[in-house]
Amino acid sequence: MASKKKSKKTQVQLIKGMKDILPSEQLIWDFIKKQVFSLARDYGFSLIETPIVESTQLFKRAVGEETDAVSKEMYSFVDQGGEKLSLRPENTAGVVRAYIEHGMLNLPQPVKLFYFAPQFRHDKPQAGRYRQFWQFGFEVIGEKDPIIDAQLISMSYVILQELGITAQIQINSIGDENCRPRYIKALTQYFKEHKKDLCADCQKRLLKNPLRLLDCKVKKCQDIGQAAPQMIDYLCEDCNKDFTAVLEYLDELDINYTLNPKIVRGLDYYTKTAWEIVEGDEEGKLQALGGGGRYDDLVANLGGRETPAIGFAMGVERVINKMKEKKVELPAAHRPDVYLAQLGEEARKKSLRLMKELREAGISISEDVYKNGLKNQLELADHRHAKYALIMGQKEISDETILIRDMESGVQETVDYKKVVKEVQKRLNARVVEKVLKIKAVKK
Ligand code: AMP
Repeated sequence: MASKKKSKKTQVQLIKGMKDILPSEQLIWDFIKKQVFSLARDYGFSLIETPIVESTQLFKRAVGEETDAVSKEMYSFVDQGGEKLSLRPENTAGVVRAYIEHGMLNLPQPVKLFYFAPQFRHDKPQAGRYRQFWQFGFEVIGEKDPIIDAQLISMSYVILQELGITAQIQINSIGDENCRPRYIKALTQYFKEHKKDLCADCQKRLLKNPLRLLDCKVKKCQDIGQAAPQMIDYLCEDCNKDFTAVLEYLDELDINYTLNPKIVRGLDYYTKTAWEIVEGDEEGKLQALGGGGRYDDLVANLGGRETPAIGFAMGVERVINKMKEKKVELPAAHRPDVYLAQLGEEARKKSLRLMKELREAGISISEDVYKNGLKNQLELADHRHAKYALIMGQKEISDETILIRDMESGVQETVDYKKVVKEVQKRLNARVVEKVLKIKAVKK
């Protein structure tokens, strides 16, 4: 009989431009999340989570049909019900949709929201550019006072500082519907004179989205852009007043900023203040870690009533790359208070119950209940930096005791099983007191 040979299946692989976040990376992700959540708490922002998939129409209307994010990079599809849907390329559109849909305009204004979530853009995969990437972002909806602009810019600066990165703010004002049309006219006029030297994309932008000519990455377009008219010279009185106020507040906050007339941001919804937060890469080339701006017309454009708003988003992977480059020290990994080691069937059963009791008492644990052999288990306790090991064998079971071992000194003591939770708590408290006394002694 011919033997049936199993054919080897091909391996299914990760999608290009996407990344697994492995357990070994969780320490840095966790650290960033903690800092972001703590910043949000201190500044009064509430977490919002919107769906990854939204109607394609939302992004076309909010972000703009002619933007790269929508026209070239959006993951769009028609679902089984025939609906045109897209994976979100950014989160502000979803947040604003939710603000309108849930009647948040009836809440005390402004409404301050933040998110920490994956975004999707079918970008060319390269260093610092992924197809799924995470952003955290802060949005203030319902306030036009420029002090909010300065506060958000300061938050974008401070969060990076807290993560060990001193970045630079580059700021501009892109005006509003009163003054921008006049500027766009002057800009179009200028670039028209250089039309034949522009890249093919910019020749199209000239007709559809002239502002974007200013942030083209092609060298010859950038060179032409050097002498282009600047928005700042065209600001109306209102925009000028607000922009001056933002800069004054930033001076007050001692935030280092550079005026950059080329900052126009890639998305259509921006008005007035626009900024990016940048850092030099290893070759000294500036890379944006995040950016933000006012979007005073977006709520109304999506069907809500006129509502001023502003926000910023930061790219988590880029921040992580920067932290690694700068070798930012992370807080120590979690250390379990106790490791539970057991020998024999009876001890195994008993340790299951003890685990539960220790956790209920707020004591963090580590264990490998399926393992036998004390040496083996103590090595694991050591590897995980447990402060104490609790050891239960045949003798301890019959005596109704348990061994408590200090993992640093190796000293062991037998204690009454019934008192084990109290005993561990006592020792943990004593460690805290000892630590405080040490700090005080150093300060003296
Ligand atoms: P944007 O609103 O497009 O300026 O994006 C804000 C931030 O998100 C950028 O400054 C980057 O840090 C990050 N970001 C944008 N696109 C990508 C991408 N394709 N891959 C990784 N990070 C990105």
